[in-house]
Amino acid sequence: MRKPIIVGNWKMNKTIAETKAFVEAVDGYCHDNADWGVATPYLALQTAKENAKNLLIAAENCHFENNGAFTGEISVDMLKEIGVEWVILGHSERRQYFGETDETVNKKMLQVLKNDLTPIVCVGETLEEYEAGTTKEVCKTQTVAAFKDVCPACASRTVIAYEPVWAIGTGKTATNEIAQDVCAYIRSVVAELYGPEVAEKVRIQYGGSVKPEGLKELLEQPDIDGALVGGASLVEDSYKAMIDALR
Ligand code: 13P
Repeated sequence: MRKPIIVGNWKMNKTIAETKAFVEAVDGYCHDNADWGVATPYLALQTAKENAKNLLIAAENCHFENNGAFTGEISVDMLKEIGVEWVILGHSERRQYFGETDETVNKKMLQVLKNDLTPIVCVGETLEEYEAGTTKEVCKTQTVAAFKDVCPACASRTVIAYEPVWAIGTGKTATNEIAQDVCAYIRSVVAELYGPEVAEKVRIQYGGSVKPEGLKELLEQPDIDGALVGGASLVEDSYKAMIDALR
């Protein structure tokens, strides 16, 4: 049985003070019906960690080197120092606006896993690719590239987030059927790479305009083990409503 994992991706939102208030309000409300977490901007990570007993705290990115002349970047060692154990990698906004490539996502995967942190690696097609019918091809290419040289034990503890770019922040969610179909396909790609045992362990989230109302039905899909949630994770009440939805 795969335990559901729901992570809020705050993107470039919330100050340190706002983070503290959110964590204080939501942390004690978490239920062990799922792993609950938030990914915060770097500056707020330490505050989030200090105030969270239940919420998993994730970074939204990291660099693939230990240290060096990489102005503006943050290393895995720096995240480890403050106890961060989770990192989102390859989010489509990083691919689209900050030059993230399949190759850098893979380098980051290897760095994160080598240091015993857990990556939440994002894959997903653009609207153009969706309309061209190449969703599965794109997801396969991104998944295969992300897992290059990743050992089976590391692969099995990785979380994959399927986020169709056309559903992010647009209010247009993929139907449960589409999301299930693609997540099942991604699991089959993992099975091709590592065999069925690893594929059965890997948790696959859906992301893209997830709201508390649809969460329960989404997670009833056999290959959807959680959600990566943007907008609806920012407001305490809607985060709590997601927790309630799974009670
Ligand atoms: P929204 O839930 O705001 O569509 O964002 C999804 C997302 O990008 C999560 O990583």
